[in-house]
Amino acid sequence: MGRGAMKVAILEQPRKFVVRERPVPRAEAGEVVVRIAATAVCHTDLDMYLGHHPGVRYPVVLGHEATGTIATVGADVSGLQPGQNVIINPVISCGHCDCCRRGDEHLCRNAGIIGREFEGSLSQYIRLRARYVHPLPAHLPLAEATLIETLATVRHAQVRAGIAADESVVVLGQGTTGLLHTRLAVLTGAKQVIAISRTQWKIDLATRMGARHTVRASVDEAVDKVQQLTDCAGADVVIDTVGDADTLRAGIAMLRPGGRFVSFSLGHADFSGLNAFGLYFKEISIIGTRALTHVDMAPSIELVASGKIDMSVFVTARYPLDQVAAAFEEYECNPSRILRIVIDAGGD
Ligand SMILES: [Zn+2]
Ligand SMILES: [Zn+2]
Repeated sequence: MGRGAMKVAILEQPRKFVVRERPVPRAEAGEVVVRIAATAVCHTDLDMYLGHHPGVRYPVVLGHEATGTIATVGADVSGLQPGQNVIINPVISCGHCDCCRRGDEHLCRNAGIIGREFEGSLSQYIRLRARYVHPLPAHLPLAEATLIETLATVRHAQVRAGIAADESVVVLGQGTTGLLHTRLAVLTGAKQVIAISRTQWKIDLATRMGARHTVRASVDEAVDKVQQLTDCAGADVVIDTVGDADTLRAGIAMLRPGGRFVSFSLGHADFSGLNAFGLYFKEISIIGTRALTHVDMAPSIELVASGKIDMSVFVTARYPLDQVAAAFEEYECNPSRILRIVIDAGGD
């Protein structure tokens, strides 16, 4: 590869990656160029790889959970230097619509994320406005630090739910986001954190995350168990990381009167078999939550830097950028056995 060139993994169409050379981008005023170290691949990426994610235009460069090192800094950028390790906030907003002006940049009417609407991080370098990178402490391993983006979305949801120290919290599903919800609720000091999954190894990880109770069962079977564990009161908060009709129905059944149901999922399944009465009778609040905001980043970085959340358990496998096709083939074959696959961008 020539000087000034970089490798980029392009998804030309569903299930078809090619790795090509492109010129390394240059930082304009207000921008930085980040030399990508690692990108974590999540279910959203898998959906785009399979062609199941609505509205994606191919070819696309995937990758939105990424860390790296500042390579160059454009004019008018302060507080960032070449050599500094950073994590990327992938939610790119317009800055002038009504949502942005209200401070809800993650709900921007013209928003997109890198790795979907904008070129992503399955590449060796990426050019971004400086406000989308957040410095990381030098000691944090960059592959594990990619999970901080996901943690920030989890934090955003729990802030919206307003979880208090004396509350009971049920987390439905113990994949990556479910486990992070379990851990964060424990760290917030929730009186009781009940982790539910049908899969034993995920239950074991939930225990490692500090869940006070784990229930290995379907969500329907878990309803009675939650009632028992809460002395028939019901839970204060249910966080649903699965997002289908069963989890919504069972989750509402698990809640106490006045409880809050947090829908933390990008599921597209229609909900049938539900009616308004359960919401009315128990006066349930349903809380939607999307992506993350800039203010979620620094506290999430701090949680990991201080050792309160061990991110190493989430990295199931690592692949170099050249083998991105093999990484996605493995993910497609074993979606329920993988938490995150990390793609290492490697040297030039
Ligand atoms: Zn993701
Ligand atoms: Zn906007």
